[in-house]
Amino acid sequence: MSDQAGERSKQLLVEAIDKLDLPTLQSVFKEMCAASEDFRQEASARLLVTEPALKRAAGDEDSGPNKKQKLEDASTAYSRYESCQNCKQVFDVTKNTKKSCRYHEGQLELDPDVFPDDDQVEMDPNSIDVETDDRRRTHPHGFIWDCCDEDCNNKGCIVERHVAAKPFPKRVGIKSAPEIIEIEDDDDEEEDDESE
Ligand SMILES: [Zn+2]
Ligand SMILES: [Zn+2]
Repeated sequence: MSDQAGERSKQLLVEAIDKLDLPTLQSVFKEMCAASEDFRQEASARLLVTEPALKRAAGDEDSGPNKKQKLEDASTAYSRYESCQNCKQVFDVTKNTKKSCRYHEGQLELDPDVFPDDDQVEMDPNSIDVETDDRRRTHPHGFIWDCCDEDCNNKGCIVERHVAAKPFPKRVGIKSAPEIIEIEDDDDEEEDDESE
């Protein structure tokens, strides 16, 4: 294959990857893990994180900087990326600081005074989805968070660590690690052994 043909084929592959939706991408990724041991190890190194590495990321110096990680040992590994139950974003558990997450704890409310001539606002305000409504773009000041009185363009009045949503299903065999992520918090939450 000429260099030119090689470049073209690389470009086509990138375009093909860009076309994938998430379920298709996940399915192809799993097939590649099953088909190639090298690929599986590479994927493990990128997507799993060991407990010592996680503790170091949380600022726990006791785990020591020199201990080599062996990701083959899945019993001490966690999923590196989790979805946050507060801001709903996917986050990297090794980069989860006390300032990583911003969200509002209250409700977003429509201020009818901002839309005096709007029939829908006047007659049937409950039919308006404040999360997606088009009026947010033109009149952001008409959508107010009741926790802080900021408008809908404000990213959040609460700033803290991301909190992982539900633990992974058992069949995956990998636990999420909220107890370690909260290592510096004041709460005295007991660490549960997830034994069957
Ligand atoms: Zn707020
Ligand atoms: Zn978050």
